[in-house]
Amino acid sequence: MTTPKSPVWHPFTQHALTPDMPLVATGEGAWLQTQGGDRLLDAISSWWVITHGHRHPRIVAAAKAQLDQLDQVIFAGYSHQPAEDVARELVRIAPPGLAHVFYSDSGSTAVEVGLKMALGYWRAQAKPRHRILALEHAYHGDTIGAMAAGARGVFNAAYEPLLFDVERLPFPQGAAADTLAALEKLAPDAAALIVEPLLLGAGGMLTYPAEILAAMKRICEKHGVLFIADEVLTGFGRTGSLFACEQAGIAPDILCLAKGLSGGVLPLAATLATEEIFAAHFSTDRSRTFFHSSSFTANPVACAAARANLEIWKSEPVTDRIKALGLLQEERLAAFRHDRRFSQVRRIGTVTALDLKVPDRGYLAGVGPDLARFFAGRGILLRPLGNTIYVLPPYCVIPSELDLVYDVIAAAAAKFGSLQA
Ligand SMILES: *Cc1c(COP(=O)(O)O)cnc(C)c1O
Repeated sequence: MTTPKSPVWHPFTQHALTPDMPLVATGEGAWLQTQGGDRLLDAISSWWVITHGHRHPRIVAAAKAQLDQLDQVIFAGYSHQPAEDVARELVRIAPPGLAHVFYSDSGSTAVEVGLKMALGYWRAQAKPRHRILALEHAYHGDTIGAMAAGARGVFNAAYEPLLFDVERLPFPQGAAADTLAALEKLAPDAAALIVEPLLLGAGGMLTYPAEILAAMKRICEKHGVLFIADEVLTGFGRTGSLFACEQAGIAPDILCLAKGLSGGVLPLAATLATEEIFAAHFSTDRSRTFFHSSSFTANPVACAAARANLEIWKSEPVTDRIKALGLLQEERLAAFRHDRRFSQVRRIGTVTALDLKVPDRGYLAGVGPDLARFFAGRGILLRPLGNTIYVLPPYCVIPSELDLVYDVIAAAAAKFGSLQA
């Protein structure tokens, strides 16, 4: 154990086990470079946020231009053009029925806002409801409410006494009969179901089919349960479509967006809601106001970056890029599908994941950090979730760069893998 030299306290970092960290100085496309001059291929999009690559010129230019106009302004009683433009475009591209956009600044707050909107909606009904349903292995962020909706475990054990009760559906396996039966049972008188559509990220990059998502939505509709789609990770192309909900042909009542909303360049989040949910807060009675704000709600520079991102989606062949990246990823995975040192070799859209068989498993098993160090030492930024290695690259990544990534994964299997399940 060595005492860190820096006063900085890093996220999800056990400082007693982490030596001093490299200082990253620059980023471009899929690459980062440290102050010491080492190059790192960013194979996890800098924690799932960067979509088009680091410093896309149009996003950088938009943010710079906005800084010359207006840096920050109170967003209660005042608005600004970038926020208006982004909201209009989000309503246009989001699944049908989502008509109102509430800004905040992180995925966790987008989720908090979604949960509060759901409760606000129910408070205005004749028969209020408050119970929240969520999936096993879910992750919705690290603030108290978002943690409550997420799976319980080592990450939040210390805060357990503060977390509100959530009813949990088993993770959908196979035909997901258990999940759907549990939902049927719990749905009557539940306020809302919150789900990560198709891909559970921090829970282990677990995937489930679009039909199950659609079935969950149908059951919620039948029982009047609000459906909250947490697309903080899956939004903006990761699963192969702009939003994962599209693949199930569903429109949620509440949609949470963050990470890729600004192309991953600046912190910005949005929670979209239906007319009914907005209407439940629309009243000359001030006590029905939606009481939520954060200082930087709809920061103009972040909104300008998001507006540039949405223009990129309109004017560049992003959808084709994502399709091509999915195919490239699938090709690279082929070599691992029959490798008995791996299990659960999987892909959804642009994201791949595979579980390395190691003697010691689970998030706290030392293998996660050991693997991350191994990869970093070879110039690849990957951060496995326990023994789950995943590749979540920015869409600008090229085939030769993906080869570098999968070569180090193969090398890691040779060093750390075992044939025992
Ligand atoms: C990352 C993530 C969040 C939290 O977003 P932050 O911006 O880190 O607060 C919420 N939900 C999902 C599905 C995520 O992947």
